[in-house]
Amino acid sequence: MISRIPKFLRLIAGKECEFHIPTKEKIIYLTFDDGPVPEVTPKVLDILKRHNAKATFFCVGDNIRKYPELYKILLDEGHNVGNHTMHHLQGLKTSFSDYMKDVEQSAELCSSNLFRPPYGRISKRQKQELLKRNFRLIFWSVISFDYSKKISQEKCLKNSLKLHSGDIILFHDSLKAEKNMLYALERVLLFYSEKGFRFCAIR
Ligand SMILES: [Zn+2]
Repeated sequence: MISRIPKFLRLIAGKECEFHIPTKEKIIYLTFDDGPVPEVTPKVLDILKRHNAKATFFCVGDNIRKYPELYKILLDEGHNVGNHTMHHLQGLKTSFSDYMKDVEQSAELCSSNLFRPPYGRISKRQKQELLKRNFRLIFWSVISFDYSKKISQEKCLKNSLKLHSGDIILFHDSLKAEKNMLYALERVLLFYSEKGFRFCAIR
């Protein structure tokens, strides 16, 4: 498992896909996908608050529908949100029209110009259409693999400690990822804060 996205993959994806946000400052962009869910997201919010960190949550529209109060708290606490489709669709397994309909449905609940395709998979046509609709396509520099049952908390942390200024790290505020994610998140915040980094939402 390679946690840092190799350069050739970034090049293949094209420059309109953002894997990193260039900055001269010491900034790390924490991102959380697939929430919000009441079992996990509040725990993430507590940790972020304790470390004075802001993050970006790529929400599944259907979770916003189920937990609108939780979604509102994300915004109230100064974090940003992004569209992650309504039903967590895999772009390459979904027709163009079904995919765009799902994105639109989610956009009605999630007001954001940020988009992250579930599984990082998307067709060229879907991509062009999203760009035409003025979405920024946000991928990641480093993936923690927090959701993987095959890795330990320590391995998840090790995956996560590979960040540089402007990097985007992918975590999940989901039940599947909770154990590894909470362990790694706390330590990533401590480790990089000590090195003078700030944690900002993608704007
Ligand atoms: Zn996802």
